[in-house]
Amino acid sequence: MEKIYQQAFPFFEEGKEQAAFEQTALEPRAGAGKSPALDQTPGADGPKFAAGRPLSDRVAHLARFEDLESLRREAQQCQACRLRSTCQRVVFGEGNPQATILFVGEAPGAQEDEEGKPFVGAAGQLLTRIFEAAGLAREEVFITNTVMCRPPQNRLPLPDEVQACRPYLDAKIRLIKPKIIVALGALASRTLINPAEGITKIRGQWFEKDGIKLTATFHPAALLRDPSKKRPVWEDFKTLVEVYRRLKS
Ligand code: SF4
Repeated sequence: MEKIYQQAFPFFEEGKEQAAFEQTALEPRAGAGKSPALDQTPGADGPKFAAGRPLSDRVAHLARFEDLESLRREAQQCQACRLRSTCQRVVFGEGNPQATILFVGEAPGAQEDEEGKPFVGAAGQLLTRIFEAAGLAREEVFITNTVMCRPPQNRLPLPDEVQACRPYLDAKIRLIKPKIIVALGALASRTLINPAEGITKIRGQWFEKDGIKLTATFHPAALLRDPSKKRPVWEDFKTLVEVYRRLKS
């Protein structure tokens, strides 16, 4: 496994990670580590973007969808939060519609917004390489994000935006029926596992909810910023693959 680890991360060994990172859509988040500039006061922006439709109505509406393709088409029309007014397209997610593992990241970046696919920038390429090194194919898993529209300047999604997009995430989970969900990064971890715990503390731990195993690891973009995180991510993936293989056998 050590040799495979080295194959997965030559990017870092060559010292090219920062330059590559800065040239991509996944530049450091504008809002990381500080309060976003936008007004987060409930009622200031959120409700008017919900087009007068309460969240509970949208939850009930999406609960009626019976396949991912219909849900994808519905998502393309979504205007439920302000992010849709500044992004190019809704990035629904892609992969095996009956995947055993569902990966959930943060939000699309510029390249994802351009192509309409999740994890296609530098961080996505690193994620693909980690998959390959761990013996996973992108096609056998499903990859999506906590919010499906790119935040302006790649800022962190605001709480009401996460809340607005949550019914889609829940609908995807209901339709894909994954046995394992992997939260990639702090936002997905707080949204899906524990809102009170940071990613550094929670990563590598396993939880169970509604018969689904949940775990979290660092977002690949965090590895591009901080190569010291590559080792714990690799350990997390080794455990993930063990759990996955046990479930499949
Ligand atoms: S981020 Fe989600 S809730 Fe907001 S407009 Fe896009 S698809 Fe709709």
